[in-house]
Amino acid sequence: MNIIMLGAPGAGKGTQAAVLCEKLNIPTISTGNIIREALKNGTEMGLKAKSFMDAGQLVPDEVVIGIIKDRLQESDCQNGFILDGFPRTIPQAEALDAMGVTINSVVDIEVKDEVIVNRLSGRRVCENCGRPYHIESLKPQVDGVCDDCKGALVQRKDDQIDTIKNRLEIYHKETEPLVKYYEAQGKLLVVEGKDTVKATTDAVFEALGV
Ligand code: AMP
Repeated sequence: MNIIMLGAPGAGKGTQAAVLCEKLNIPTISTGNIIREALKNGTEMGLKAKSFMDAGQLVPDEVVIGIIKDRLQESDCQNGFILDGFPRTIPQAEALDAMGVTINSVVDIEVKDEVIVNRLSGRRVCENCGRPYHIESLKPQVDGVCDDCKGALVQRKDDQIDTIKNRLEIYHKETEPLVKYYEAQGKLLVVEGKDTVKATTDAVFEALGV
């Protein structure tokens, strides 16, 4: 099954993608995580993306399209994949269609802007594996330490308040039109983001019939 997770930054795409990845045993591909990894390794692509990312802006389409094109050719994608954070613009969605990739379902997690601001400003991520946590609602077992890989939990630069507002504005302008795009393709599944991760997961599973 090939799935796209859609929704504003902080809607819970990454968290739900991680749960789905485990349940369906297919990889999650997060362009954000790939870019952050490239940045950590000091690659040319990472350095090119840094200024956009830090400012909460979108990295140019050709960069992320190139990332996805390469990644989808890897063997672990053969039985399906979950895209988290891609596509984020209509040209990216069109490029995915042009690659001949069949998408089965697009899960759109809908959450109000004010809830998102609270969530993102309290979000912490593992600097090693990228797993997300929250200072109130999704605490690790040991403060500041990732449950999975024991990496340190940090606040992303783009999770600071002004950058969050900027990212939401960009989401409404550039990414939200994808809802109609995939609705027109008959692939859209709208899921209301709930108060707990578990409740949202149940709704995602139900929508996907898994
Ligand atoms: P994320 O971890 O998905 O919130 O992505 C973090 C940042 O990476 C975004 O704010 C963008 O700067 C960049 N990014 C990730 N995915 C994309 C994409 N599909 N298109 C453009 N920029 C992206």
